[in-house]
Amino acid sequence: VTEASPGRWRLVLWDVDGTLIHAGPVARAAFDLAVARALGRDPGDHGVDTSGKTDPEIAREILAALALSGNEVARHLPGVLAGLQAALSGAVEEVRRHGRVLPGVEELLPRLHATPGVVQTVLTGNLAANALVKLQAFGLDRWLDLEVGAYGSDHHDRRRLVPLAMGRATARHGHRFEREEVWVVGDTPRDLACARAAGVRCLLVATGRQYGLEDLRGLGADAVLPDLSDVEAVVDLLVGSG
Ligand SMILES: [Mg+2]
Repeated sequence: VTEASPGRWRLVLWDVDGTLIHAGPVARAAFDLAVARALGRDPGDHGVDTSGKTDPEIAREILAALALSGNEVARHLPGVLAGLQAALSGAVEEVRRHGRVLPGVEELLPRLHATPGVVQTVLTGNLAANALVKLQAFGLDRWLDLEVGAYGSDHHDRRRLVPLAMGRATARHGHRFEREEVWVVGDTPRDLACARAAGVRCLLVATGRQYGLEDLRGLGADAVLPDLSDVEAVVDLLVGSG
């Protein structure tokens, strides 16, 4: 972080999947692999949608969809999450080959990294180790202060993650971030819900798999964009205002 001019602090909390990148089929397959290893059987077509959910939430929903009891879900959950991390740990090359960075991101992150007073990190449902794999695949980790991020491995409820990131950023950067200095950027109503739970601002982008521009408009986010390709407008929105 460059020396900040007073009164221009910003904490930008990026969602990962559908907002910065698409990780490709390996990320989705990792869940099924992890469940198969934990249960000793193929999960088949469970139909669980992953958009905006934390990895522990997704794992629980898949186990529940397989008609496991609450006790069995709780018993298998740690094994599934360990398997999920193992499944992605060696997948940097595969994510790079079959995934992609979303429009504007490769310009936007360095721009914000070089902007005084801006701290940017991730707020994601991914386990921390898996978020790192996905970001490293495209070299995006170098622009982000991942130590102050908040992850699915911190809490299964995404709405609990913004205060965690704010606390970590405050401890590390010596500035107590106010709510109006914080932006959540995501691609689903769940990203908006976690921003609202903490009283911070929210930009939604329609680059996710589940929600288009029309779905996201009218939810009451502070801003909604088709994607992040208008870099100047996004920088102005996140940093220039207020
Ligand atoms: Mg997302």
